[in-house]
Amino acid sequence: MPTAVLSTPTLVLNRSWSAITTTTARKAIGLVYTGAARIIRPDTYETHGFDSWADLAVEDGEPSIRTVSFEMRIPEVIVLTHYTGMPTQEATFSRRNLYRRDRNTCQYCGGRPGTSELSIDHVVPRSRGGLSNWVNCVLACVGCNGRKANRLPKEARMHLLRTPIAPRWTPIMEVPIARVRQSWRKFVSDRYWEVPLEP
Ligand SMILES: [Zn+2]
Repeated sequence: MPTAVLSTPTLVLNRSWSAITTTTARKAIGLVYTGAARIIRPDTYETHGFDSWADLAVEDGEPSIRTVSFEMRIPEVIVLTHYTGMPTQEATFSRRNLYRRDRNTCQYCGGRPGTSELSIDHVVPRSRGGLSNWVNCVLACVGCNGRKANRLPKEARMHLLRTPIAPRWTPIMEVPIARVRQSWRKFVSDRYWEVPLEP
């Protein structure tokens, strides 16, 4: 089975048809196979279990999964059958998400020197009990980071451009936009692509 096809992204909706995350086609098929999810046909909104999906004809040129016994369309969108939770509101605290929240911008001088010239600054330095979390970490350029050193911003006479907060977005943001499928657009409104800058 071609691994490239199986690693293509599949959008995951919760039972209220809100986009909550993405996964790989491989995992999506696994969820559908066990009954934990159903596949949505984006053109008709019909939902399918594993067998009825496998029965759908694969059109010429359409990406598909082929085994000895059958050929199956790649699931683009699945809906979970059990999980009723609402979309996660707080993004995972990660380096990538922090760069995203701060838009690759130094939070002291507003410079955008490029990601390799930016680093994560602990507003309250770690040596003084500052934690690694959304509200105590910001991006800083090499110059500002060096200037601030092991001090509080006010001790260094520096000001944050904005108060760092935990950004609220859905995990759909985990997928690079270049990989978003056209068929997802009707399930995910544009606001999901916007990172709020203010609380
Ligand atoms: Zn700076």
